[in-house]
Amino acid sequence: MRSSGKFFLIIIAGALILSACSKKKSSADYPIKPVPFTSVRLTDDFWAPRIKKNATVTIPIAFSYCESTGRVRNFEIAGKLDTGRFVGIYPFDDSDVFKIIEGASYSLQTFPDPKLDAYLDTLIYKIGAAQEDDGYLYTNRTIAEMHGGKGLHEWASPNRWEMDSVLSHELYNLGHLYEAAAAHYQATGKRTLLDIALKSADLVNKDFGWDRVKVYPGHQVIEMGLVKLYRVTGERKYLDLAKFFLDIRENGSTYNQAHKKVVDQKEAVGHSVRATYMYSGMADIAAIEKDEAYLDAITRIWEDLVFRKIYITGGIGATGGNEGFAEPYFLPNMSAYCETCASIGDIFVNHRLFLLHGETKYIDILEKTLYNSALSGVSLSADRFFYPNPLESNGQHNRQAWFGCACCPSNVARFVPAIPGYIYAATDEDLYINLFISNDAEIMLGHKKVRVTQKTDFPWNGYVEISVFPEKGGKFSLKIRIPGWVLNEAIPGGLYKFDDRSDQTYKIKVNGKIIKTEIENGYLEIERKWEKGDKVEVDFPMPVRKVVADERIKADIGKVAIQRGPLIYCAEWPDNNTGNVLNLVIDKDAAMSTEYVDTLLEGTQIIRTTGWQTKKTISGTIEKLPSENISLIPYALWNNRGPGQMMVWIPYMPGNAHPLPAPTIANRSRIRASKMTRLISAINDQAEPANSNDHSISYYHWWPDRDQWEWIQYDFDKPENVSKTKVYWFDDGPEGGCRIPDEWEILYLSGNIWKPVKAKTKYTITMDGWDSVQFVPVKTSALKIKVKLNKNFSGGLFEWIVE
Ligand SMILES: [Zn+2]
Repeated sequence: MRSSGKFFLIIIAGALILSACSKKKSSADYPIKPVPFTSVRLTDDFWAPRIKKNATVTIPIAFSYCESTGRVRNFEIAGKLDTGRFVGIYPFDDSDVFKIIEGASYSLQTFPDPKLDAYLDTLIYKIGAAQEDDGYLYTNRTIAEMHGGKGLHEWASPNRWEMDSVLSHELYNLGHLYEAAAAHYQATGKRTLLDIALKSADLVNKDFGWDRVKVYPGHQVIEMGLVKLYRVTGERKYLDLAKFFLDIRENGSTYNQAHKKVVDQKEAVGHSVRATYMYSGMADIAAIEKDEAYLDAITRIWEDLVFRKIYITGGIGATGGNEGFAEPYFLPNMSAYCETCASIGDIFVNHRLFLLHGETKYIDILEKTLYNSALSGVSLSADRFFYPNPLESNGQHNRQAWFGCACCPSNVARFVPAIPGYIYAATDEDLYINLFISNDAEIMLGHKKVRVTQKTDFPWNGYVEISVFPEKGGKFSLKIRIPGWVLNEAIPGGLYKFDDRSDQTYKIKVNGKIIKTEIENGYLEIERKWEKGDKVEVDFPMPVRKVVADERIKADIGKVAIQRGPLIYCAEWPDNNTGNVLNLVIDKDAAMSTEYVDTLLEGTQIIRTTGWQTKKTISGTIEKLPSENISLIPYALWNNRGPGQMMVWIPYMPGNAHPLPAPTIANRSRIRASKMTRLISAINDQAEPANSNDHSISYYHWWPDRDQWEWIQYDFDKPENVSKTKVYWFDDGPEGGCRIPDEWEILYLSGNIWKPVKAKTKYTITMDGWDSVQFVPVKTSALKIKVKLNKNFSGGLFEWIVE
């Protein structure tokens, strides 16, 4: 360890704001300083156990997957510690190892663990071995070059850096390396990974520039990483390089936000993780360089995102095809993408914008995302992860232990330990309280040290007790965030609104006396000379609220979402009647009550109300079944009891529900198929798509199989006379992997033999509509549809009807 003893002490004290440690101290940075998570010790029952599980479960299993999938071995091979070819699917696999090192470094500061510390040393040794002499680090290319270029990933260029494409991850990996290096240095004081990162960054700085290589990163993140290296070292070249990588973006694809110069961008477009990482880098530059053009651009983009493109859960990225943003107000629920990484990225963006402007609207989005779409990304057991976080499910969604593309679990691993860092912020005179979580913190307001504690049962109860213990009595302002949901604002900008006004208002007491003060920028400011032990009590009412969406969001028409405090609720299968929730309807004025159930989902507040199941009749009308009790749980806690139906937006109009199917021949049949998956239940659920690429209802597919015959069979509950059938094909071209099939035919069971029906009409194959076939009537106990998949694509179907 080459850092001085004094320096190390500063690190241990948790001085994460590295400008203070810089060789060349830079005064320009965010006007409001974050309070590092290392200064905040959580004492609550909601987040503290999750952070502990991240340390004891998520990080160890994430490292074990990095070992078992070859991600670590790639460093060993590239470093000549082993022999072989590149293992794995993606050239960005290196980044997972870096991200988990970042998470482990954060975690070590809360949970010291000599074994983990030593394991990181071993990993860093391997990473160092894999780094080429001039600083280049990218295991896929290094290993390929050992084999005469064989095995170079198709997303990499034959020469270094030349891949001018959305697919290149050469610089993306390095961005995560730099973030990990800064974290590891702060956590341990060891320069091992930092030196590797600086050697790499110096090579990038030598090779790239306006008169040298002018290729922008395919996937952003190096911008944020370089800013962190700048803060650690005080070396301006890293900051300039970060700005260079932003400024050279133009004339490219919207997919990775290179369609215009970043300062000319006005809308949130393309891949949502790339977008949020880029906007975070832009906010850093805007803060440090006081760059007005950057500031204007990021403000406009934020408004587009929050006013038109965000889900009620805080999730962003509506479509899976581009893993990103769609048109304004296009926010389907069942196919909502809402990648976990994008939620985490959006928290990075909103935190930075708060540090720039000191307005609560950014924390309103941060809190909404944190408690809903980001938290949904990981199971209560901390060992299962969502990649997309949909707002509605027919049972086809289920958290996974790991993914081929493992960006989300590794992001969870590094995000969760840092959550306490979002609670407070400070200037020399102001202490901001942004989130309400029981904790004990030590905060520097300039040179004044103040200990602050919070006691609360948030998010279950809105009463918060804040105590301050300034080292020396002194004057400063306590700025307490009054959440938008307390002020009748469901989201800044009004994309979602509460259905009715609540007259319940917050109360604030200082040392037992009620005070009244103005709210400014969303903060209630209490300025006084504070003494040790002064106590502030805040009581935020938490009535159950119904939320309605802007009517331009088609998927939410005639529906309400239920919110209490920052939490969005959902109906999930285990809590409701026969496991059906998608067919539920509630009264728009239904009374709602709440109750804390300590035996459910490790303890949670539930909401009770009444509603009806709906059902289709044979004649096609929708009937309401007798009224019954409905129970709702926090959205983030769904899918902890297995896959099944779930719904956030609950219809109050029967026509907007997915009614139970009528008892038709198809619906009463037992289904078998060449590939049995949970999705098979889609084909006789009588939900009719709007077109062949409608992701708002469930469908069945054979992906990734192609160029072969597949089949589905209905076994009738009794022999039936049938003479007509119709089918609606799934086709998610041009982006997806399914197309309408090449051929199909219908067979019936005669004795023990399958025979083709005698068709009276042609077998047509249509996009966006039904294909029906009439045939000579047969009496049979089973019908089979055979489907020949396209040569190059797979296929699937929404519905198969028999008459
Ligand atoms: Zn991800």
